[in-house]
Amino acid sequence: MSEFKKRKVTQKQLKNHDASDSESSSTHESAINDQQAPGEEAPETAKTFKELGIIDQLCEACETMGYKAPTPIQAQAIPLALEGRDVIGLAETGSGKTAAFALPMLQALMDNPQTLFGLVMAPTRELAYQISQSFENLGASIGVRCVVIVGGMDMVSQSIALGKKPHIIVATPGRLLDHLENTKGFSLRNLKYLAIDEADRLLDMDFGDSLDKILKVLPRTRHTYLFSATMSSKVESLQRASLSNPLRVSVSSKYQTVSTLQASYLCIPHKHKNLYLVYLLNEFAGQSAIIFTTTVNETQRLAFMLRALGFGAIPLHGQLSQSSRLGALNKFRAGSREILVATDIAARGLDIPSVDVVLNFDLPMDSKTYIHRVGRTARAGKSGVAISFVTQYDVEVWMRIEWALGKKLKEYDAAKDEVMVMAERVAEAQRQAIMEMKNFDEKKGSRGKKFGKGKRSRDDMDQEEG
Ligand code: AMP
Repeated sequence: MSEFKKRKVTQKQLKNHDASDSESSSTHESAINDQQAPGEEAPETAKTFKELGIIDQLCEACETMGYKAPTPIQAQAIPLALEGRDVIGLAETGSGKTAAFALPMLQALMDNPQTLFGLVMAPTRELAYQISQSFENLGASIGVRCVVIVGGMDMVSQSIALGKKPHIIVATPGRLLDHLENTKGFSLRNLKYLAIDEADRLLDMDFGDSLDKILKVLPRTRHTYLFSATMSSKVESLQRASLSNPLRVSVSSKYQTVSTLQASYLCIPHKHKNLYLVYLLNEFAGQSAIIFTTTVNETQRLAFMLRALGFGAIPLHGQLSQSSRLGALNKFRAGSREILVATDIAARGLDIPSVDVVLNFDLPMDSKTYIHRVGRTARAGKSGVAISFVTQYDVEVWMRIEWALGKKLKEYDAAKDEVMVMAERVAEAQRQAIMEMKNFDEKKGSRGKKFGKGKRSRDDMDQEEG
């Protein structure tokens, strides 16, 4: 611990936390800002790390890390944490939340050098390693020692690492509890700081019991930071048990959708996707809709099928020439076609007008694309509907999207018997679409020959695989 030099406490005196306080935690919401993505230019109101009360040595570490200005969650959480308050931060991965709790912990460690000083609990091994890396980077100049304690790794070497008395432990709850119960001489009796990261996810992953047991063996006079993307009832009960008179700070997430959007999902067998699509288009007849798919072929096939059923559908994908793409958009914009069937590549960077309904016929692979797609509707205060098709093959992807959104969406209530009534007509239209696809493929092939290889490769960036 010789690396640490004691320095005068420059921030306000740390508040003593009365153990009896811990059951009656009140939360005060502080100002809510829009989230600033790390690396983006800071809003005018953002202070410097120094102005937030961070000591020079850690400010330099931030600079080395390329942190020009605090992100909103850092700007809100750090001053409170430096005052000695417990903090509940509503923020997600990507908001800069790790530094929001790491910097105050490191600063306090400088003030009061001690081994087994801080514990961070995280839901996954990967996140634990990532957090530990942030502590090591930010605390490099003060020689902080971190140990990661997660499942799937050798218990004995972890016990040895714990025996070397690190300053900070970053752990998943299950394995930490194993060590607390079985590793001789290891205790967190003198812990000063606890950070629970991604508390909502931790509790979703059934770590509740282990967390409770761990909390019982930690000293009650400690500082606690709890970070979560959402404030679920599970998180609230954890908050009562482990925080003392906390203050709540939150940033509205970039990953949130607008409140005028009615988003839902439709859980259906893969083989019935066409049927449900037609059913929904009938339900929203007369309204403008964008149907998103993941491939050119699917976009083209759906457009053929819907046209065979009498819908005004027009495709938009990256194997169309730029002029055809703009032509498709213009028809859609002018209302001469009310349905646009599009891939993401075609949709990106184009000024697609606002629509009433977005249908995710194929799910996007990531939440950013989901937000981008559903953001085509419910713009500028108008209402809009977004429905995502979730088949037996999509459950995992959908769960990831919901997790990133920080909420569970409701299931769309479709009238199954009405859906099935259309089975024969849709099957016929589907047969017709397959025939037209053959012509489309032949034309595509001959166009490829006509343009030759040079032209295609020059256009590569604008192309999509079928
Ligand atoms: P986190 O939300 O903690 O997972 O952080 C997301 C990313 O933002 C990480 O790569 C951090 O290194 C980075 N980051 C954190 N704070 C800042 C900041 N103030 N300025 C720029 N990048 C930051």
